[in-house]
Amino acid sequence: MATPSPTLVDRFGRRITYLRVSITDRCDFRCLYCMNDDTAFLPRAQILTLEEILAVCQAFVELGVGKIRITGGEPLVRKGALDLLADLGRLRGLRELVLTTNGSQLAKHASALKAAGVRRLNVSLDTLRAERFRRITRVGDLGQVLRGIEAALAQGFDKIKLNTVVLKHCNHDEVGDLVEYAVERGMDISFIEEMPLGLVTGHDRAADYYSSDEVRRDLACRFELLPTPESTGGPSRYYRVVGTATRVGFISPHSHNFCGSCNRVRLTAEGRLLLCLGNEHSMDLKRVLRAHPGDGERLKQAIEAAMALKPERHHFDLQAHPVIFRHMNVTGG
Ligand code: SAM
Ligand code: SF4
Repeated sequence: MATPSPTLVDRFGRRITYLRVSITDRCDFRCLYCMNDDTAFLPRAQILTLEEILAVCQAFVELGVGKIRITGGEPLVRKGALDLLADLGRLRGLRELVLTTNGSQLAKHASALKAAGVRRLNVSLDTLRAERFRRITRVGDLGQVLRGIEAALAQGFDKIKLNTVVLKHCNHDEVGDLVEYAVERGMDISFIEEMPLGLVTGHDRAADYYSSDEVRRDLACRFELLPTPESTGGPSRYYRVVGTATRVGFISPHSHNFCGSCNRVRLTAEGRLLLCLGNEHSMDLKRVLRAHPGDGERLKQAIEAAMALKPERHHFDLQAHPVIFRHMNVTGG
């Protein structure tokens, strides 16, 4: 009789098949919904080494996880990120290796990413206007990101998806132009409702909330959107832009809770395995890694034990003070 393949299942019967890994909390941007302009970063000794990250990813793949997303902070600012991606690309059993980036380093690294085995890219892009881009990211250069996107398109990744956090009074009037930009380049685009992760001082989250339903209503004036049952195994609900190759996704943690079908867990840059984006339940894998170096079995036991900690759902509330004190760059979006 064939041995059944290993699986990670939580208390609510959800199969965990997807790991998101923040390889650094550092970033070359300071997006106002993600962090503050004086955000302090973790000392180097506190974050996992690239070897430790690889060991955790390998353990997850041996436990049946087929998809890994590398994120941050900005993953491409970490020295050695491309070597790590190449090592991950060689893991047997890993079906999908994907990356989320702010695009600032893409012009330089697009071809190396493709060669490393990265199949799909998510690039964050909140606006097509240089001044706004500077205001949202505080320091970023839009031209550099747009050149990065063109370089990535030239490499022929399986798919490139844009991620846009929509804020009222800031970029909500640009959702149509962003869809147009995606359509012209055969890319997908997801619109994200801001999540209350960490205290941010640069803007008022409740006042700037713009729901996915409002975005969809605005887009309907300009595009024909057809709901599709297609899923990438994520929280996005997708619509096809009729007559184009583009899908528009909506990630709506406030207006449409997506916890019931959650298939993912997250590894923070400091080696905490987070069982839910909106809760603090976690397992300290760095402790396991450093107490038992090279012991893959111990690591797998710890990961299996962590499944019992995965909560049923998140409870985000924009009006209340954040109950989650980690910023998104720490969590890994
Ligand atoms: N630096 C990379 C980037 O920006 O794509 C990867 C990390 S970033 C934390 C991942 C995603 O999280 C980005 O698309 C970003 O827009 C999103 N994000 C950051 N803070 C958020 C928040 N408070 N609510 C919703 N999305 C957020
Ligand atoms: Fe950096 Fe990404 Fe956070 Fe912006 S959203 S500050 S690019 S980690």
